[in-house]
Amino acid sequence: MFNLILFGPPGSGKGTQSQNIVNTYKLAHISTGDLLRDEVSRQTALGVEARKYMDQGLLVPDEVVIGMISSKIDDMPEARGFIFDGFPRTKEQAEALDKLLEFKETSIELVLSLEVPEEELVKRLLGRGQTSGRSDDTEEVITKRIKEYHAKTSVVANHYDAFGKLVRLKGDGDIAATFKLITQEIDKYLQPA
Ligand code: AMP
Repeated sequence: MFNLILFGPPGSGKGTQSQNIVNTYKLAHISTGDLLRDEVSRQTALGVEARKYMDQGLLVPDEVVIGMISSKIDDMPEARGFIFDGFPRTKEQAEALDKLLEFKETSIELVLSLEVPEEELVKRLLGRGQTSGRSDDTEEVITKRIKEYHAKTSVVANHYDAFGKLVRLKGDGDIAATFKLITQEIDKYLQPA
């Protein structure tokens, strides 16, 4: 099994590049943002609660997200490996993920961090807001999401860096250029399927 975290701030291209990775390497994609938006649109109890945080650009509480991830991993016992997109976003989530994978006798192999300057992030997210229909792609909420990233999420990089698993990639080029950098790293572990 090969398990990868695609890491980076909002707007760094995690969702787009996850799709490219899934198409090339056939990993199972787990995006907590997508899972939460699905809960919101179905108006489940979890979704109604999560929305309060998402609309303010704040992180949803760890226990909610960790529970969701755990059942998603269990749903896909045949996966070649997982790509985690937008998770883990706190040190507590990272520690919980390490434990969940250890329980399945596997681990995170590689963490690819997409590095993009802040002004480019804001530009991309505002652009996306015009078409995405996402209620959190407004200037006010974008600013809060980036702030939350610096306050709680950026430390997750240090967690994996300490294990020698973190690779920082330049993420401000075009989609194809960034994907090439990504494949150069993944190819060291796994061949396209
Ligand atoms: P994303 O689609 O990854 O940008 O996530 C959109 C929103 O969903 C975030 O601003 C958070 O409110 C929430 N969210 C997504 N993933 C997580 C996570 N791992 N932990 C906490 N909140 C999350």
